[in-house]
Amino acid sequence: MTHLVLRNIQKSFGNKTVIDDLDLEVAEGDMVCLIGASGSGKSTLLRCINLLEPIDDGYIELDGLDISDPELDPQPVRQRIGLVFQSFNLFPHMTAEENVMLAPRRIKRLSREQLRPDISALFQRFGLSEHMQHYPDQLSGGQQQRVAIIRALAMQPEIMLFDEITSALDPELVGEVLDVLRQLKAQGMTMVMATHEMGFAREVADKVCFLSGGRILEQGPPEQLFGNPQQARTQAFLSAVL
Ligand code: ADP
Ligand code: MG
Repeated sequence: MTHLVLRNIQKSFGNKTVIDDLDLEVAEGDMVCLIGASGSGKSTLLRCINLLEPIDDGYIELDGLDISDPELDPQPVRQRIGLVFQSFNLFPHMTAEENVMLAPRRIKRLSREQLRPDISALFQRFGLSEHMQHYPDQLSGGQQQRVAIIRALAMQPEIMLFDEITSALDPELVGEVLDVLRQLKAQGMTMVMATHEMGFAREVADKVCFLSGGRILEQGPPEQLFGNPQQARTQAFLSAVL
C-alpha cells in the first residue's frame, strides 16, 4: 500500500520554479532518499510535504487523504508528519526532556505526568536515558540531534522527514545519528530523507531519487541508481560526490 503520493507538484518562488511537475510515491515502511546538488529543491520538497510551504499545483495524498487541499486544517496533518532539520534548534534553557515534552504538552494538551512514561521509553530506545535531564549545551551535537529526532517522534508521527540532519555534525558524530535512522527503519517507520550520505543511502534506502532543477531526474533502488545510473547528469553528480 502506498502511504504518501505526490502528483504533479509545482512550486515557484516569484518567477523561479523550484519544484517542477514532480511525482513521488513513498510506500509504507520505506526509506526514500533524496539526493542532488545544492539548490535542486530537496528542502523545498520536504517543506511542501509537511505543509510548511503551500504548493502551486498538484496534490499530496497521505493515506488516501488529500492533505494539499487548501480547505484542510494543516495543524492535525502536520502532527502526522515529523520533520527534523540540519540545525537541531533545541531550546537552550530547557532540559532534553522538557524540549521533547513541549509540543505534546501544548498541542496534545497532555501533562508531564501523562507524557513521562512514553517519553522515558523513547529516550531509552535511543540510548539517551542518562541525558534526559541535561541541557543542550551539556550534550554533543550528535546527542542533540538524537534529542531533536526524539522530539519529533514524541508527537507519534506516521511518517518522518529528515533534511540533511547530519550535515552540521563533526564526522565522528554522524554514525550515532544514522544508527537512529537504521533503528527507525527496522521498526517500520516511513521516512523521506534529503541527504549527502551516499553510503548510508546505498545501504538503507528502498528508493533513491536524484533531483535536478526541481525534478526527479532519475529514481530507483540504490543498487540501480548508484551502480548503473542512466542519466548523464546523475552520473556527473555521483562521480563528483562519490
Ligand atoms: P536544496 O535543499 O536541494 O539545496 P532548496 O529547496 O533549498 O534546495 O532550494 C531550491 C531553490 O529554491 C534554490 O534556488 C533556492 O534558492 C530557492 N529557494 C528556497 N527557498 C526559497 C524561498 N523561501 N524564497 C525564494 N527562493 C527560495
Ligand atoms: Mg536543502
